[in-house]
Amino acid sequence: MVVTGRWWAGRRRRPDHVIDLELAEIIAAIGDGELVPHYQPLVSFQSGRLLGVEALARWDRPGAGRLSPGAFVPCLEEGRRMTDLTSWMIDRACADLDRWRRLFRLPVGFRVAVNVSATELVDRRLLRLVGEALQRYRLAADGLCLELTETAAVEDLATAAEVVRELRALGTRFALDDFGTGSARRDVLDQLPFDMVKIDRSYAASLASADSLAFISEVVALAEERRLEVVAEGIETPEQFAALRSLGCRQGQGFGLGRPAPADVVLAPWMPAPAGI
Ligand code: C2E
Ligand code: CA
Ligand code: CA
Repeated sequence: MVVTGRWWAGRRRRPDHVIDLELAEIIAAIGDGELVPHYQPLVSFQSGRLLGVEALARWDRPGAGRLSPGAFVPCLEEGRRMTDLTSWMIDRACADLDRWRRLFRLPVGFRVAVNVSATELVDRRLLRLVGEALQRYRLAADGLCLELTETAAVEDLATAAEVVRELRALGTRFALDDFGTGSARRDVLDQLPFDMVKIDRSYAASLASADSLAFISEVVALAEERRLEVVAEGIETPEQFAALRSLGCRQGQGFGLGRPAPADVVLAPWMPAPAGI
């Protein structure tokens, strides 16, 4: 299906940052190699070391500069073509992981996270895509983590749970993204087998609020009970880092720890210098 109509048609208000794009153009751009993954470091609070990276899509659109996912992901969602992006991102993430492991001595347990949309969880194509990409680059499945966003769209929890269980049986890890916002449903956390929960960045930005502190403590306690890893997102300042660490978070991401960057530069600052330099 190629949807050529303007994707915001029928919406009450077109967000300012959204550029006039058509679905067919985005899909062509994926095929033409105009998209590029950037990677943001995931850091251990205890050791300050790199634990992995998250892949974030960017579109270098000729004549328009670099576009963030907010400018094209909603269009793919609406046109039900998210898998075009996901399959490309999984392939690129696995290719980059393969290249990094040849170039660097990666930390034990290093993983690359790729965002997947909830609508894809009821689609068994995701299993095939992951299996094929791991095989193509001869990677172990525990090097890959899938981050589930917009869980409001998980309509069929039973099928989603089956797909997640099969992915985890391969060894792939599974994270619930943006927890604490309207886009991450609590019942989804209760019913799907996650390895990790990521506390939305709005909480790091509102640490002066008693409600935020209470929520973060609650998530940390719940995660301990269920043996889930907790990641605090959106860490920009040393004060946020210290506060989130004292609340029991052990891993974090944010501009203050490392900004998203292209594959060829993101890891170098975290890696020991090669012998002889
Ligand atoms: P996300 O998965 O929650 O990714 C984190 C977003 O927060 C990224 O925005 C990142 O640049 C931004 N960020 C990270 N640290 C900080 C910080 O300290 N402060 C602030 N203010 N922002 C920070 P980005 O790259 O624009 O991505 C936005 C969202 O688009 C992502 O949110 C994710 O939900 C979605 N997305 C990105 N790439 C993909 C993709 O390949 N597939 C899918 N399905 N969604 C994607
Ligand atoms: Ca994410
Ligand atoms: Ca997030």
